[in-house]
Amino acid sequence: MIALILNDGIEKYEQDIRELAMAFCPGEPFIYEKNPEAWLTIESGSEPGGSFFVSASENTEKTRIDRESFLLTDSRRENKSIIKTALYKILNRLSGKELPWGTLTGIRPVKLPESKLEKGMRDKDIRRDMKEEYLISDEKLDLIMDIAHLEHRELSAIPYRSGWSLYVGIAFCPTTCLYCSFTSYPIEKWKERLYEYLECIRKELRLLKEACNTEGSILYRRPLQTVYVGGGTPTALPAEHLRKLLEIIKSEADMSSVCEFTVEAGRPDSITAEKLNILKEFGVDRISINPQTMNQKTLDLIGRRHTVEDFRKAYAMAREKGFDNINMDIIMGLPGESIKDVEYTLSEIESMDPDSLTVHALAIKRAARLNTEKETWATVERADVREASVMTAMGAESAKRLNMKPYYLYRQKNMAGNQENVGYAKEGKVNLYNILMMEELHTVIGCGAGSSSKAVIMNKAPELYDGNENRVERFENIKNVAEYLPRIDELIEKKRKFLMINRQNGNN
Ligand code: SF4
Repeated sequence: MIALILNDGIEKYEQDIRELAMAFCPGEPFIYEKNPEAWLTIESGSEPGGSFFVSASENTEKTRIDRESFLLTDSRRENKSIIKTALYKILNRLSGKELPWGTLTGIRPVKLPESKLEKGMRDKDIRRDMKEEYLISDEKLDLIMDIAHLEHRELSAIPYRSGWSLYVGIAFCPTTCLYCSFTSYPIEKWKERLYEYLECIRKELRLLKEACNTEGSILYRRPLQTVYVGGGTPTALPAEHLRKLLEIIKSEADMSSVCEFTVEAGRPDSITAEKLNILKEFGVDRISINPQTMNQKTLDLIGRRHTVEDFRKAYAMAREKGFDNINMDIIMGLPGESIKDVEYTLSEIESMDPDSLTVHALAIKRAARLNTEKETWATVERADVREASVMTAMGAESAKRLNMKPYYLYRQKNMAGNQENVGYAKEGKVNLYNILMMEELHTVIGCGAGSSSKAVIMNKAPELYDGNENRVERFENIKNVAEYLPRIDELIEKKRKFLMINRQNGNN
């Protein structure tokens, strides 16, 4: 347990302090008063003479206290960095631990070098600034610099600043995986209402069509550039519903300037020859078939209810049908998996030669069964911090052997070993949607239960863009399908207002 006692205005930075403390001490709960049970107490406040302090004391057998003093500025952003650096130094001295990401706790670390590159800064200067400001390791700095450069190159081919992307969320799966924290419902329970769900998607898409033709809307005269159908598992829909979904997208969205059309076919147990034919017929050019692991015992444990053989068959079938851009997702740190298991998964994947590979570090969110059914799973071995980082490095090596380069990265809270998720791809096979969405480079509108929309408001006209921070406004769709269906008209009205955000801000 960690006690957090913040005073004299430092409490404004509680979130930042907590995130950094969490990175040093994963899984520890926080309390906000002194307590003899707390093994670590972090305090902060003012000192005479206008300076501030942060201190940490370890309430172990031999109490150890460490402290740093600092001055604050008028800038909240600078103060965040000053306080986190001071706390990092203290926790590093007390624990002897170094964090590979330094004081960076945000989920989009690539955004930082990316925006500096946009401003025309040189690599050398970006590296120096980032090392000084965030105490990041050379290894992670190399990784995000490589990604920032690759993103830059890939995106130079499309005028993405004047376009937008569409996400369609199909909130159903064959079963619910143990670690799942997405909006996903077992499809069997909803089979009678699937058409109703698809009609709600149609209503949302019609609204977007209207917005594209309405002056003052964030989509006004913007071309749709990428489409991503995810979830859940879109291919969990029966073939006739999948066809209907794609018909709706094609008829309601203007696909004429779309350069990438992705459908997640994540669960091998949802893939059939008929469904693959439908995806091909509608021009889907990238699919994802996700093994997560190639170890049957783990698949059984995490509730995927498909076999390794199902996965091999689905992948071979997709290749036969001519899909030449297939992604695979794998997860490092799955319950019960050792480094040997990961080695096996990676060697199997290498023999199948996918076009891109997304290596996730397991993140246990609050709603996941692995968390809500903690007691049931308490005896199952989980990777520790060292193993998790070895596994992540093995994933990177495997991607290298497959001639892939890292092209997008994001971090999540509660990730195994404070690691990251990285997308790797072969030349010409990157997923533009992932980059645009992750780096918040243009507006992405989500349709379907549980989807979210992000309007990226540029502070300058696209042709005058100089790398200054964009403003991002968010809109969340209703998560629960049982509420999404009857409340769709109410949702549409709220979303209509959101789409007019440009006008409300006098920024058109
Ligand atoms: S396939 Fe993905 S969305 Fe579906 S239950 Fe598993 S983790 Fe959740």
